[in-house]
Amino acid sequence: MRVDYGNFINGEWVPAISGETFESRNPADSSEVIGTFARSTAADVDAAVQAAKAVGRDWMLTPAPERADYILRAGLILEERKEEIAHVMTREMGKTLKEARGDIQEGIDFAFYMAGEGRRMFGETMPSELRNKFYMTVRHPIGVVGLITPWNFPIAIPTWKSFPALVAGCTVVFKPGEDVPLCAALLTDIFTEVGIPAGVFNVVNGYGEEAGAALVDHPDVAGISFTGSLEVGRTINERCGRQMKRCSLELGSKNIQIVMPDADMEIAVEGAAWGAFATSGQRCTATSRLAVHNDVHDEFTEKLLTRVKGMKVGSGLDPEVELAPVINEKQKNRILEYIQLGQQEGAKLITGGNELTGEGYEGGYYIEPTVFDDMTADMRIATEEIFGPVTGIMRIDTIDEAIDVANKVEYGLSCSIYTHDITNVFRGIEEIEFGLIYFNAPTIGAEIQVPFGGMKNTGNGHREAGPVALDFFTEWKTVAVDFSGRLQKAQIED
Ligand code: NAD
Repeated sequence: MRVDYGNFINGEWVPAISGETFESRNPADSSEVIGTFARSTAADVDAAVQAAKAVGRDWMLTPAPERADYILRAGLILEERKEEIAHVMTREMGKTLKEARGDIQEGIDFAFYMAGEGRRMFGETMPSELRNKFYMTVRHPIGVVGLITPWNFPIAIPTWKSFPALVAGCTVVFKPGEDVPLCAALLTDIFTEVGIPAGVFNVVNGYGEEAGAALVDHPDVAGISFTGSLEVGRTINERCGRQMKRCSLELGSKNIQIVMPDADMEIAVEGAAWGAFATSGQRCTATSRLAVHNDVHDEFTEKLLTRVKGMKVGSGLDPEVELAPVINEKQKNRILEYIQLGQQEGAKLITGGNELTGEGYEGGYYIEPTVFDDMTADMRIATEEIFGPVTGIMRIDTIDEAIDVANKVEYGLSCSIYTHDITNVFRGIEEIEFGLIYFNAPTIGAEIQVPFGGMKNTGNGHREAGPVALDFFTEWKTVAVDFSGRLQKAQIED
């Protein structure tokens, strides 16, 4: 079924002011049009921001537990519709049904977590150095926030941003990834169903350079929460900087799994296969580098090859499939170029490397699971984000070398170390420059109750989810109450 959605502004679906639209297509068969959506420009963005601004004060003054109640009910509906939305997600974005369910489950878990936060939102109290004076801190919402998201987690990422924003008391203008507007529309319909007041949550669909950039530049937007590529993140950071606007960036990465000789080899291989090839490698936490100790290199490589060669590639609706299509033609070509580049750079292609086009793959963007051996840390395939089903093995001899290799990239999102040696564990905790460090578990699979984010060029120091989820969307106000009945001067001797 083909659908037609506009923008969601002030509680209503409306077409783009220009009347322009764009299509969303199924990556498993690009001849299938999922729907048409509003192609927004700065004028649409302005209408959405004005709607969000108009109700900002009232939403801020709505008690936080009441704001959080909308999120709780949205979570309950997401749970009810999980199966239906998962099917839409697989059709629109490609990932396997099992993973689509996981994507939505992340949103459900986060709804329940953030709903509880509405009844906490703890501040602190501090003593004053003066008599009869009291200090406390309270959170204050930053105002209208712009949320700009990618396509790879079409429900999870929008919920990671919108739920804390709304609980915090911000009003929202959301610009979803242009490859997944239907998933965004289904989430929006849930907000409508729970009766969130008109104007509190708005959606502008369209392209990054048009709708996204206009949102970043709008003077009434107090903060931008962005997840996407480093390239776009850099320009958003610059533009927000000029405007003194708050900006949270969750960007790309070049994640690594380290395998030490004392690792349980079966578990390390399963972790690598899942970490590198789940969502066809299109996760910001995907294992795109494997640093394997020389003593176990051959055993690990052989076992990984057997596992990878057994992976079925195909439509995400087929329950046997482990590798679903990649998102679009442009991304498919980019991945294939990197595979070619790896060979030119001297890495050894040991499995995969090809696009699949025969029977069963017509019209889709399918690439074989691809593994390089003899990759070295300075190759471009070892340092640049590929965002596809491609990983490479490097040899290491010591934990020092493993740490050096791991840190030798500009990114720093997720690192995993397979070892039972307590020294390796604590060396890793102390020296690895990644925001997420896993031991004996893959680089992917973050949970919502822990902070999520990366070091170095993966971000700009903010974290999403977990107990810090509200931080970006609120300012701390320090409140002093003097009940002494006279002028008291801090730091001044009488
Ligand atoms: P992208 O940067 O191309 O696009 C992301 C979003 O930004 C889209 O909505 C797009 O329309 C918008 N956009 C593009 N240009 C813009 C501009 N000039 N101004 C404002 N908005 C603009 O990224 P993508 O291809 O959608 O997603 C893949 C990238 O996202 C990868 O690099 C991946 O690592 C990253 N990612 C990071 C995380 C994380 O948490 N660190 C999570 C998921 C994905």
